Amino acid sequence: MIIGSGPAAWTAAVYAARANLKPLVYEGEPVGTEVPGGQLMLTTEIENFPGFPEGVTGPELMERMKAQALRYETEVRSELVTSVDLSKYPFVVTSSYSEPVIALTVVVATGAKAKWIGLPNELRLAQHGGGVSACAVCDGALMFYRNKVLAVVGGGDTAMEEALYLTKYASEVVIIHRRDTFRASKVMADRVLSHEKVRVIWNARVAEVNGDDEIRSVELEDTVTGARSSLDVGGLFIAIGHEPNTKFLNGQLDLTQHGYIRVDPWRTSTSVGGVFAAGDVIDDYYRQAITSSGTGCMAALEAERWLAHHAGIGESPILETAEGPVPASPEQVEEPPADRRSVPRSRRGTGASR
Ligand code: NAP
Repeated sequence: MIIGSGPAAWTAAVYAARANLKPLVYEGEPVGTEVPGGQLMLTTEIENFPGFPEGVTGPELMERMKAQALRYETEVRSELVTSVDLSKYPFVVTSSYSEPVIALTVVVATGAKAKWIGLPNELRLAQHGGGVSACAVCDGALMFYRNKVLAVVGGGDTAMEEALYLTKYASEVVIIHRRDTFRASKVMADRVLSHEKVRVIWNARVAEVNGDDEIRSVELEDTVTGARSSLDVGGLFIAIGHEPNTKFLNGQLDLTQHGYIRVDPWRTSTSVGGVFAAGDVIDDYYRQAITSSGTGCMAALEAERWLAHHAGIGESPILETAEGPVPASPEQVEEPPADRRSVPRSRRGTGASR
């Protein structure tokens, strides 16, 4: 069973279906701003997904991934999973309309939603490619945003990263933050504050977004005095955090301190055997369509092996040496021999070209 309908879910479905596992995909249903297909449904042009040199729209990419999964034996239900019981095996998955279903393995690929301010014109313009976005790396390089004044809302590490990224394309980047200090790490904040193209408007919140087809300006409200002002912008990037979609799990899987599903290092296995997780629901770092697809592939392969080893379904020709988790943290890494512990100073990079 695969829960989700973004790049991770459809890639997992393609792999699982081609392995004759007959996956059942719960793709969700539209609820408010959430639609099946996930965050890419809010993206216009995608120029960095390999294989599409001319670019592809987010919705089209999702449609094509789904079509690829449907070419094989994939069943899709347009329902939301409302709860799961992972306390005993086989697992039980309950959805909005159908009877509960028994699942032999589960891949959770429910993504994360970008937080929005919640202004009426904000999401409308985001949905229509009108210059409002929640992902600078996805959208910032588009011609639409070139040489314009771009505003970034937020004061955390994501806002710093987005602002720095946008300096490559914008004439000026204006960070709008509701307090007078950043929450971001000092090193990131310093980098931003010392950048010649970046200006910060402290103690301000975006009260309104103006523009019909394209954003024109934002109305700002001073969070201390309440004074109003207007700022002309050619783009608005909301970077106020993400929320992984894990509520339906009801605490049955271990999460990281930021609320993402915890997986083993360089694996998609979770704290419950037979349950795998992929895509943005495990990822607060890369958050790209291509990395989601990559972990979706990993999850399906791991599920296939798990079924072979634990449920006697299919075969898993994988070498034993490839089964253990790859060491990822310093505690897990074996101490190297004394002569390999550090690179001699004389061999470290000097910056000189060779
Ligand atoms: P975050 O740290 O929670 O910061 C969110 C920012 O948005 C805060 O400055 C917050 O303001 C502001 N904010 C929240 N709701 C708002 C609203 N409704 N209106 C206006 N502003 C609002 O989120 P994040 O920056 O996405 O980072 C999440 C985690 O990932 C952090 O632990 C971060 O360190 C990590 N991360 C690390 C890197 C990196 O190391 N390269 C990059 C990205 C993220 P207040 O400060 O006033 O609360």
